Amino acid sequence: FTYVLILGGWLLDIEKLTLGENIGEGEFGAVYEGVYMGQRVAVKTIKCDVTAQAFLQETTVMTKLQHKNLVRLLGVILHKGLHIVTELMTKGNLVNFLRTRGRSVVNSVQLLRFSLDVCEGMDYLESKKLVHRDLAARNVLISDDNVAKVSDFGLTKVDSKVSDKAKLPVKWTAPEALKKEKFSTKSDVWSYGILLWEIFSYGRQPYPKMSLQEVKDKVEQGYRMEAPEDCPPSVYSLMRVCWEQEPRKRPGFHKLREKLDREMEKLSPG
Ligand code: ADP
Repeated sequence: FTYVLILGGWLLDIEKLTLGENIGEGEFGAVYEGVYMGQRVAVKTIKCDVTAQAFLQETTVMTKLQHKNLVRLLGVILHKGLHIVTELMTKGNLVNFLRTRGRSVVNSVQLLRFSLDVCEGMDYLESKKLVHRDLAARNVLISDDNVAKVSDFGLTKVDSKVSDKAKLPVKWTAPEALKKEKFSTKSDVWSYGILLWEIFSYGRQPYPKMSLQEVKDKVEQGYRMEAPEDCPPSVYSLMRVCWEQEPRKRPGFHKLREKLDREMEKLSPG
């Protein structure tokens, strides 16, 4: 069983896991909450066949990563398929978090905090030369103490080849990635710009009312989304540099982080 060899120390004991409620649906199967040796966890579960390959890839990448803004892998369980056990993010994904709470509950300091959290996680991924490829607010989860963490490394690749064009999240994907499958940290930066737009619009669907084909065509011709309502101009200008047609002209995550730090300093000094 090659999986066992690859995963070595990451194998957990099914006997020590108590499964609880279903808390979400992933592409490959349900996500449950649970308790493992006293710790609250999330368990992503699938039947072990073709899709196990994708999961194992996700897991192998995750074993190498540790950062406060990346959802942490605790291990895997092999029992009637594959179960991926991660820390439990009790407040769910960022889209739902923002939609259900809205402007009356979440202030702009909190929005900026989430933006910085994601940026720090991505800065770390960039330092590991990893490209996420599916960065979007739906793939950012919120912990019990309101820390935003990047999840869903299913599409993460060390190199930038091969992808299934039909499955690309068009509204989040950079033009050069859509057209020529050129994925890079700079295409993640484009997606991060869309994510910023999602955050500051409290979880709206990007390019409202536009079809996917329309988005592809118009963005290629230079069309960009307007600023969300009440979005600070400085934050909107960050979105716009993330959406430079030319990947080289987009900042890296480190640069973005410095800029966001300065914004935070202005909004909540000290
Ligand atoms: P997929 O990548 O296959 O679409 P996800 O990993 O995004 O599946 O999980 C689907 C949903 O399950 C998420 O949107 C989220 O609501 C929930 N979920 C996933 N992982 C966790 C977690 N660690 N803690 C809490 N909820 C989670």
